Amino acid sequence: MLFGALEAGGTKMVLSIGNEKNEILERASIPTRGPEETIREMNEWFAARGISALGIGTFGPVELSEGSPKYGWITTTPKLEWIDTPLLPAMRGALGVPALIDTDVNAAALAEYELGAARGLRSCFYVTVGTGVGAGLVVEGNLVHGMMHPEFGHVLLRQEEDDPTPDGFCPYHKGCLEGLANGPAIEKRWGRSAKELPEDHPAWDLEARYLAQMCIAAICTVSPEKIILGGGVMQQKHLFPRIRAAVRERRNGYIATPQILEEIDNYIVEPGLGTASGAMGALLLARRAMQR
Ligand code: ADP
Ligand code: ZN
Repeated sequence: MLFGALEAGGTKMVLSIGNEKNEILERASIPTRGPEETIREMNEWFAARGISALGIGTFGPVELSEGSPKYGWITTTPKLEWIDTPLLPAMRGALGVPALIDTDVNAAALAEYELGAARGLRSCFYVTVGTGVGAGLVVEGNLVHGMMHPEFGHVLLRQEEDDPTPDGFCPYHKGCLEGLANGPAIEKRWGRSAKELPEDHPAWDLEARYLAQMCIAAICTVSPEKIILGGGVMQQKHLFPRIRAAVRERRNGYIATPQILEEIDNYIVEPGLGTASGAMGALLLARRAMQR
């Protein structure tokens, strides 16, 4: 039995075919153009491969309340052409197979929970730090959303005193997590792409402190059993020890669990599935759609 997995992004759509052993057998990537032509092209690709179910991890915001008439629609996205696009219905209808949709980061969190760094635990908090910042949360096997889905990238942080651009760059909130710590914020603050900044540049110490504030916010709200940090910016592996050190320093003795005091190297970690979490998560969503 074959399953379709779609990672729907603002710049590209990554399409995968997987099987019941969670093996990815085939992949393709197409640029994200207007919704009509992009969805048509994706439907043709999946239809030609005879999938039995489809899972979608998508950019958002996306309506995830199953009772809503807009369930599975992309809603108020900054990607204007895609506002109010019935992504899930348009694919499920054309392909005639069961389908499930969730956020890209919830899909990645699910994959890490089932198969990756949080395997065997009760909860998993997955953050991507890239063009945006977003987080997904799985608790006891459930992907967490309620009124909407988490928009963790827009939690407000405290400005660091040595930040040369402390106002931040989010068009909605200026100094929220995303506005202070995403890849574009690093570039605007220092006038150079994050990829080009050397390891000893002050950018990274500052970035680590913002990401430590982020981890502390996660610890103090949902207290996940594992925090997994992925995305382009986290390719800078030297950020991990800096973030862990800043979390320890700033928890200020208050959160005194073994995970923080003794095993923080094993608590704030890289994705166990590397860059495959997104595709694997969409595949697991397809399998869940089938089981229903
Ligand atoms: P997206 O978030 O668009 O899906 P990425 O997770 O790759 O894609 O994030 C892209 C952002 O991450 C860009 O702002 C880029 O500057 C930054 N980035 C990508 N690779 C690296 C790297 N190796 N080091 C530092 N920053 C990076
Ligand atoms: Zn914001």
